[in-house]
Amino acid sequence: MSATIFEKGKNGKSHSYLPPHDCPLEKLDLPGRRKSALDLPVIGEQDLIRHYVELASKNYHIDKGMYPLGSCTMKYNPVVNEELARLEGFNGLHPLQDEEDVQGALELMYNLQEALCEICGMSAFTLQPAAGAHGELAGMMIARDYFRDRRENRKTVLVPDSAHGTNPASVVTCGFTPRTVPSNEQGLIDPAVLERETGPDTAVLMLTLPNTLGLFERDIARVVEIVHRAGALVYMDGANMNALLGIVKPGEIGMDIMHLNLHKTFSTPHGGGGPGAGPVGVRAPLEDYLPVPRVVKEKERFSLRQRADKSIGRVHPWYGNFNVFVKAYAYIRTLGAAGLREVAENAILNANYLMKKISQWYYLKYPGPCMHEFVVSGKNLKDYGVRTTDVAKRLLDYGLHAPTVYFPLIVEEALMIEPVETEKKETLDRFAAVMERIAEEARENPSLLLEAPLTTPVRRLDEAAAARSPELCWSGEERK
Ligand SMILES: *Cc1c(COP(=O)(O)O)cnc(C)c1O
Repeated sequence: MSATIFEKGKNGKSHSYLPPHDCPLEKLDLPGRRKSALDLPVIGEQDLIRHYVELASKNYHIDKGMYPLGSCTMKYNPVVNEELARLEGFNGLHPLQDEEDVQGALELMYNLQEALCEICGMSAFTLQPAAGAHGELAGMMIARDYFRDRRENRKTVLVPDSAHGTNPASVVTCGFTPRTVPSNEQGLIDPAVLERETGPDTAVLMLTLPNTLGLFERDIARVVEIVHRAGALVYMDGANMNALLGIVKPGEIGMDIMHLNLHKTFSTPHGGGGPGAGPVGVRAPLEDYLPVPRVVKEKERFSLRQRADKSIGRVHPWYGNFNVFVKAYAYIRTLGAAGLREVAENAILNANYLMKKISQWYYLKYPGPCMHEFVVSGKNLKDYGVRTTDVAKRLLDYGLHAPTVYFPLIVEEALMIEPVETEKKETLDRFAAVMERIAEEARENPSLLLEAPLTTPVRRLDEAAAARSPELCWSGEERK
């Protein structure tokens, strides 16, 4: 492991090309001002740059290789959209600027809302939520207040066992009680089971569509009818809309509330903790409940409407992550309707191609056809003492990122693979070839897998400790 910048800069020599400052020194006399100097590393400029370039080169990222992380849509996002988001006219704005001076920015937000309404067949969208799970929470708050105003005391939210993990969490955070709807042997909702579970206490059916098995609910029309007949709402988790663009408009198949992940489908990278956006769309009767402020257009002038009696209020400071909106809008305008549909077609084609190949060597519980992703199982390798974790770790030795593993929970030893629409056939073939090779290794030399990864900067970490008690600060002591 390489030394930290603190270790490298402990007794180091500074070297920089900046002239000495020539401003008079002003002594700040503030309460809480530290008495001693900060113990910062001292290091020359070139060594500093080398240190961080070395660290960066150890990282794996989408610009380095394929990233088949199921449900995360780790695709190539055009750099030109980043450049547009960085234009000074956007990047230099202040959220307190007068509406008159930021008409262009408001127009962009308004147009993006309109575009999302058109793409999804919804009546109105808010851009405010900062992530997918945040959108889910906002959507559930809308449902809660809607039933409160109707004086209906509905407390249960039905969540299929094929839903994304954040769904039941959002339900609980909002004060509802989740109730699991088991899927059938095809991995889909069984309308008869749903009918049994739905009752006067049901507020919402929260549907991940396509579900986490990458499957589209074949009985969606029946499903929606059952829920609506009971006076409840259907919420669609549309984080993986790259499977449906231009093919399905959720509003037209009865979805009442939905969210999107702009940082998956619409040209902002997902992951890394950067800014995201989880816009929420609703059908007409729910429009008044959307968060404020809302961007509205009156007589060619755009403004932020700050008050609405039924609104759930604010869910974000100001109005959301504006730079993400710029990228999404640029992406939508560049591709147009035909291009967006092609995104979905390629996502589906790539996933089915890879599923056919990989299911030769790994167990496929739900044969599909799939949408944007699929789930195979490593359980056929158990006979050789090898588990899915070992497959994932061995992939790293081949210079590939591992898929999502052990999710969804309804597939034993799950490997959830999303090739995404931007990978070409040669890349998919290489990934499949490596998966085949690893399955062979499992049979012929399983210890290779059990010891993997052999080539990475660190080997197997204690994952529980890494998540629960990470050591994030340098203690000042030399490491052994
Ligand atoms: C990614 C994802 C989410 C959560 O989105 P975040 O932005 O990570 O909060 C929710 N549902 C589905 C189906 C997803 O794929």
